[in-house]
Amino acid sequence: MDKDQRKARRELFSRLYEGIRTHSVVRAMEKVPRELFVPLDKRRVAYANIPLSIGDGQTISQPYIVAMMSEALGLRGDEIVLEIGTGSGYQAAVLSTLLPKGRVVSIELVPSLAEQARDLLRSLGYENVDVELAGPTLGCPDRGPFDAIVVTAAAPQIPQTLISQLKVGGRLVAPVGKLEQQDLVVADRTGEGLSVRMLGACRFVPLRGPEGFAPVPPTTDERNGDKGCPTD
Ligand code: SAH
Repeated sequence: MDKDQRKARRELFSRLYEGIRTHSVVRAMEKVPRELFVPLDKRRVAYANIPLSIGDGQTISQPYIVAMMSEALGLRGDEIVLEIGTGSGYQAAVLSTLLPKGRVVSIELVPSLAEQARDLLRSLGYENVDVELAGPTLGCPDRGPFDAIVVTAAAPQIPQTLISQLKVGGRLVAPVGKLEQQDLVVADRTGEGLSVRMLGACRFVPLRGPEGFAPVPPTTDERNGDKGCPTD
């Protein structure tokens, strides 16, 4: 890391410590080398508070949003968390750090991204993360029900398929709304149903496939359409 990168990193974390109340979340983010999760030509700006393109039309979320979503999950450290949209694997690495006694099951639709993220997470020693290819059903019903679910792609509504994979007492955090802009929604599954609150506006790439905005791209569909979410 050169001098400019170190400066950007210091500035980013001082902003996160100011804005995010749960400092354990920011400390977890400080432990994750974000520059290794972005393409080589973007390393220079890895610590800018912006989303970055990671190829295939997908993005690694802005650090502040990663912090907000991780905080909103309210994790203790021993939960099993489902992530929809592995992308670069960065959010999964942050969750892994927050879950010393728990596990992350992270689902990705694009095979090349899933493979890259799996290799990177393994090489960096994030052993409590399982990256799985998306199957025909949104999420991963075979591995649920989950204590918490985080969706890192925009959905038109709170996906009911995911609520059914959430434990009673569990929490889902997801960007929900229109293609151009969403609200960051926190939904608690109670015995009576859902208790929902909004954290503010955000903008994510669209969720694809069932309960998403766009169909699954044909190449991805052909490759993994009949596989389901495998269990180890
Ligand atoms: N969490 C990621 C950013 C995710 S970008 C990170 O930290 O880098 C959103 C990702 O969701 C994209 O990689 C996209 O391919 C994936 N995606 C879209 N629809 C999906 C679906 N139905 N199931 C799983 N992943 C999906």
